[in-house]
Amino acid sequence: MELRVEVDTKSGFCYGVVRAIKEAEVFLDGNEKLYSLGSIVHNNTELSRLRKRGMEVVTHKDIEQLKNSVIFIRAHGEPPSSYEIAARNNLKLIDCTCPVVLKLQERIKDSYTKLRRVNGQLLIFGKQGHAEVNGLVGQVEGDAIIIENIQDLIKVDFTRPISIFSQTTKDPQEYKEICDMIREKVVMAGGLLDNFKSHNTICGQVSSRHPHLKEFSKKHSVILFVTGKESSNGKILYECCKTANPRSYSIESTDEIHREWFMDGDSVGVCGATSTPMWLLEDVAHFLTDKL
Ligand code: SF4
Repeated sequence: MELRVEVDTKSGFCYGVVRAIKEAEVFLDGNEKLYSLGSIVHNNTELSRLRKRGMEVVTHKDIEQLKNSVIFIRAHGEPPSSYEIAARNNLKLIDCTCPVVLKLQERIKDSYTKLRRVNGQLLIFGKQGHAEVNGLVGQVEGDAIIIENIQDLIKVDFTRPISIFSQTTKDPQEYKEICDMIREKVVMAGGLLDNFKSHNTICGQVSSRHPHLKEFSKKHSVILFVTGKESSNGKILYECCKTANPRSYSIESTDEIHREWFMDGDSVGVCGATSTPMWLLEDVAHFLTDKL
């Protein structure tokens, strides 16, 4: 089959993931084993590559039992309780919390201190149970309301002061809609708009991909979006492609590609999430040109 294939040069790992993987590899160059607290990326192909090099993914429960080992903290960050376990068990840390996430954790802590003085509420727009969100909520001892969607606003008292922050990988448009709805509800409840503070903390590495992927998707007849099934950022960016081009398919590897998706002469765009390695996008492109 004759296909024209373009790999999106703006896809691939974001800065935080590149930094984390580099640190892990440097350590594994001189050591046999590195315990990673949670998966370093939501991408099975990349995980299996690192597993072969000596990285073992462990859970929070596992590290309670580990002693005198080296633990890797991924870009998503961790709540203070993880650092307490590490100190108790004499675990050495390679802390690769992304600086953007670290700053967000600090901002949340500061804002919470101010909100407490005025009986305010801290809201986090994010996915319940997501590692980054757990790390953020941990900064305020769990005293935050997680907003996954507009329905969750039922948990909020609109007559009291409100500050909202976003998980770094959320959809900017959805965040704006949530904030607009909060403003409306504050007015309806007779509250003061000055008491509502919205902090747009979506990472620039993610928000800049939305308009770009929209254009990239429109440019091609078919889009293959490569992402791990667990990646929340992958799901959001894939939706962005699918809206711009209905012939968009989300795949984790070349095994999931179906010949029926293509017609002779199609132009195919290959792109991915912030946790998708560039080498995997190139593999997909080679598969399309050489094996289909
Ligand atoms: S998406 Fe942004 S905040 Fe998240 S790891 Fe990447 S660079 Fe850091």
